[in-house]
Amino acid sequence: MNPAFRIKMAKRRGEQIAKEQGVNTLPVDPFEIAEDHNIMVQAKPNTETGVSGMLLRHGDTFGILYATHIPSLGFQRFSVAHELGHYFIDGHPEHIFPEDGVHESRAGFVSSDIYELEADNFAAGLLMPGQLFKREMNKHSAGLDAILLLADKCVTSLTATAIRFAELSEDAIAVIVSTGPNVDYCMLSETMKLLPGLSFIRKGSAVPTSTLTAVFNRDPEAALSARRDEQSIDIQDWLGGSKSKPAHEEVIGLGGYGKTLTIVTCPGLVEAGYEDDDDDDEEDLEARWTPKFHR
Ligand SMILES: [Zn+2]
Repeated sequence: MNPAFRIKMAKRRGEQIAKEQGVNTLPVDPFEIAEDHNIMVQAKPNTETGVSGMLLRHGDTFGILYATHIPSLGFQRFSVAHELGHYFIDGHPEHIFPEDGVHESRAGFVSSDIYELEADNFAAGLLMPGQLFKREMNKHSAGLDAILLLADKCVTSLTATAIRFAELSEDAIAVIVSTGPNVDYCMLSETMKLLPGLSFIRKGSAVPTSTLTAVFNRDPEAALSARRDEQSIDIQDWLGGSKSKPAHEEVIGLGGYGKTLTIVTCPGLVEAGYEDDDDDDEEDLEARWTPKFHR
């Protein structure tokens, strides 16, 4: 099966488990779901660095240990939800446990292993089900304030929330995580992808020097603290493109790891998308009124 499809299905499976649990308000509590399935969950303070959690199996009995070296409740809940993914996704228990034992996870989109990615996406779907997330998201205008609010509502980390936001938003929004002078990754909403002549930001590429993020990242203290800053920019500063368009750049330090989260919004792009649609309609209309000759 194609990896993109597997990931999509894993996310949907997470949403389905939240639904089966009867959750209709945020947040979704992964501890409660584990308890209802007789899975014992315990904190494990002394895990190896990088290990976010473990799933243990003995016959039909399962247990979850989650790391607490990162003192973020959002990260801990995501780790528990990730382990639930290994329990609920078809084929996972069989794959990770050929026999009884322990599976160690590295949650948080850091592994390129398809089973780990599936479990991460299950966790995103479980903790941020599309319908509930969108209902809350649509009450606010796209930007860092809305993402902070959603992270609070879902009890999820800022980055996981920002990624989900870009995935589900109908606004033109870009989410960029960077460390010092380099981009770790970048996610664009579907509307942002409509930017004519867009140049995608690749993993590891340099943060464009003309951006607020570049200035922010030059001060090592900025990323380590949860300091915030914002400025009006041109979308071309970040994403290139063939036309100049006003945009807004917001940055916040993510603390411990010295990473920065950047949110770029371009409110004018929605209209640009509609303009293009209108052009298409005119072409359709023209095509409809052009006589066709059958052989
Ligand atoms: Zn895992």
